[in-house]
Amino acid sequence: MEKSLAVIAETFEGALAPAALECVEEGREVADRLGVRVCALLCGDRTAALATTLAAHGADAVMAVEHPALAQFSADGWLQALAPTLRELHPALLLAPDSGQSRAWLPRLAARWRLPLVGCCLRVGIVGDGYPEIVRATHGGACQERLVWPYATSVFALLTPGVRGVNPPQRNRSAEVTVLRPQVDLDAFRDRTARVLASDPRTVDLSEAERIVSGGFGAGGPEGMTLLKRLADVVGAALGGTRVAADRGWLANDRFIGSTGKIVAPKLYMAFGVSGAGQHLAGITDSGCIVAVNNDRTAPILKRADLAVVGDLHQILPILLDKLEALAAAGDANTAEIALAATSAAPDAVAAPVPRFKEAS
Ligand SMILES: Cc1cc2nc3c(=O)[nH]c(=O)nc-3n(C[C@H](O)[C@H](O)[C@H](O)COP(=O)(O)OP(=O)(O)OC[C@H]3O[C@@H](n4cnc5c(N)ncnc54)[C@H](O)[C@@H]3O)c2cc1C
Repeated sequence: MEKSLAVIAETFEGALAPAALECVEEGREVADRLGVRVCALLCGDRTAALATTLAAHGADAVMAVEHPALAQFSADGWLQALAPTLRELHPALLLAPDSGQSRAWLPRLAARWRLPLVGCCLRVGIVGDGYPEIVRATHGGACQERLVWPYATSVFALLTPGVRGVNPPQRNRSAEVTVLRPQVDLDAFRDRTARVLASDPRTVDLSEAERIVSGGFGAGGPEGMTLLKRLADVVGAALGGTRVAADRGWLANDRFIGSTGKIVAPKLYMAFGVSGAGQHLAGITDSGCIVAVNNDRTAPILKRADLAVVGDLHQILPILLDKLEALAAAGDANTAEIALAATSAAPDAVAAPVPRFKEAS
């Protein structure tokens, strides 16, 4: 079999997880350096149709490991179904999203095969004569560690979702598709997914949040953050903020965003009293629509925003809350409606020349 780099292409509700596409694209770059092909592995039931998307993001081959019993995630099931294929592939490197699923089954496989497994990976590269080099976040994101394995036969790397982002698909690419139908012993499944609960924006990991309301030093204190929390609840967003807000104890430490905090990619990012320091902006580069409220018209975040609102957040927030509560009573507001409410809540609102919220709505 040709040498390859393997990617676990996780799916959610029948669609490829963006984190899986990030792994395929990262794998493509590494595979080009090694001169090997990228083999994406799907596990589930009737997943082969997703091969076109995987090819468009860089896969050369797609193996769909299919069985009705694999329609819902089971760590035992994934191990049973994927281990033989992976043994045969014997990839130089295996990439998977750093997700709850991967963390449930891949460490067991790595332990069985006595291979290194690395979590919280930020990027993967190749040094010297083709040795895997991995940069990962440590100490809660405050430090980065560089690891190189000159002697390992294979390394499992779990990539942090949202760090890399997903590039537009290349529709002219195609992949060789193989469907495998393994024998699975259902009695040996000790875990099964009974049902998947919808994520709660209040508790969801910020890196997975679709909407974020973010507070900075300009929020003025815990009372300001409480108002922002109310706003977050109304628009179904997660609450985040700047490192300054977290350092002051207005926000939990795992809720600050930026190069040393969480990297986020929501469809809507609403920043209140956030100046837009480089370290903070580094964490929001893949956001869809950015709405920023700041009383200083020279604040860097306003240049980055799709809708820049110049004004005192303490005056704007109550008006905005009233408008959005009225909208919420009539149903879930979309991004454009929220942005419109922000515009009408403040007289001095300026939409960016290319208002990206049109795409994100
Ligand atoms: C090594 C290092 C790593 C760092 N990592 C991160 C990181 O990961 N994430 C991060 O966020 N920061 C990080 N920082 C800190 C970063 O440099 C900034 O200091 C921080 O992001 C600023 O936070 P802020 O915007 O809340 O506060 P400030 O910069 O003080 O900005 C407050 C803003 O609020 C506005 N404002 C004030 N009052 C009002 C009002 N009433 N209405 C509207 N607007 C108002 C002000 O005009 C101002 O623009 C890091 C710093 C270092 C040195």
